[in-house]
Formats: sequence, structure tokens, C-alpha cells
Amino acid sequence: MLRVGITGGIGSGKSTIATIFEILGIPVYYADDAAKKLMNEDVFLKEQLIDAFGKEIYQNGILNRSCLSGLVFNNPEKLAQLNDIVHPATIADAEYWMQQQHSVYVIKEAAILFESGANKYLDKVIGVFAPLELRISRVMQRDNSTQEAVIARMNKQMEEEKKMKLCDYVIINNGQELVIPQVLKIHEAFLKQAAG
Ligand code: ATP
Repeated sequence: MLRVGITGGIGSGKSTIATIFEILGIPVYYADDAAKKLMNEDVFLKEQLIDAFGKEIYQNGILNRSCLSGLVFNNPEKLAQLNDIVHPATIADAEYWMQQQHSVYVIKEAAILFESGANKYLDKVIGVFAPLELRISRVMQRDNSTQEAVIARMNKQMEEEKKMKLCDYVIINNGQELVIPQVLKIHEAFLKQAAG
């Protein structure tokens, strides 16, 4: 079974594209959602987070995300520590999930795929590319946030051009190119690859 990653910067449209693959019947693992769930439910992960950041990050067993974000936002060392705890747990959870799937190929959607080292566990990676201005306006609209807040989040991620160069396939989601034909072309390539 082929293991495929989908990545791209904030607002590039990777979740939207992943949903199209899901409509085609391909199982999709959404790494951000899974990480959020694990931080609330995985006992070992919770213990590690409490050891690193203090028990006040949980309230009645539920992660207080704004408290944790506040602790790591302008602290690269603390952010790296958080990633070192959460990424291996999410990678292991995705591995376990993939083993349960029965499909020609499966997809893992993740914003930080190369940065977290998750690409090492994948056979192919699809990048979703959209121009910066469009990404900013899409996220401002989706999250009802300011331009400054969106840009601050983007600045913490790997440069988009650099990320796309590392991908095996790139889907252009610029509001002009049709995305469904691009998805179908890649889908068919994977089906062919799996058959041959
Ligand atoms: P994040 O990393 O922040 O989770 P993302 O890369 O997963 O972002 P999406 O949430 O898929 O991006 O897309 C961002 C916003 O842009 C969403 O509101 C989505 O509906 C919209 N969007 C994405 N692609 C398109 C498109 N081709 N046409 C219209 N709207 C789109």
C-alpha cells in the first residue's frame, strides 16, 4: 500500500485537496486534527507535556490551547520542545492508522511534513501551492483573523518554494487552474503504480 503525504503552507488548500481524495474513496489522516486529539487523549503524551510545560496547560483534563500557545509562541526553544514531544506521537499514531487501512493508497495531510521528518515514512509527497496573497486572504476569511496574525504564523513555516521543490507532485491551487483534473491525474498515477 502506497503511503502519500499532502503538504503546503497555511491556507494553501491542502485540507480542501485532501477532501477531494477522500471523495474518491482514499482514506485520509489529518495530522493537525489527530495531534489535537492525541494531546487530549493520549496519557503518555499528556504526561510528557505536563512535565515540560506545567500542569496548568490542562483544565479538567482538556488542553488549554491558548495557554500552551502563549508559552511557545515567541520562544523557539519551547516550540522545538513541544514539537519534539508531539511529532513522534503523531507519526506513530499515523503509522498505526495506516496499518489499519485497506486501500490501494492512503494519504496523510500535514502542514509540517518535511519539518517534522514525517516524509521519511512516506513513499510520495504532494505539495499544494497557492500564491501568498491568496493564502493570506483565504485564511483571514476562514479564521476571521488579521493579516498580521496570519503572516506571523506563515513566517514560522518553511519557505513555500523550498517546500514545493521537495515534493514529488505539485497541485496548483491559485484560483485559476482547475484542481479536480490535477487531483484525478495524480490519483490515476497512484492506481497505475499500485497495479504495476
Ligand atoms: P491550514 O494549514 O491553515 O489548515 P490548508 O492548507 O489546509 O490551511 P484549507 O483550509 O484547505 O487550507 O483552505 C483555506 C481556505 O481557503 C478554506 O476556507 C478553503 O475553503 C479555501 N479554499 C481552498 N482552496 C480553495 C479553492 N480552490 N477555491 C476556493 N476556496 C478555496
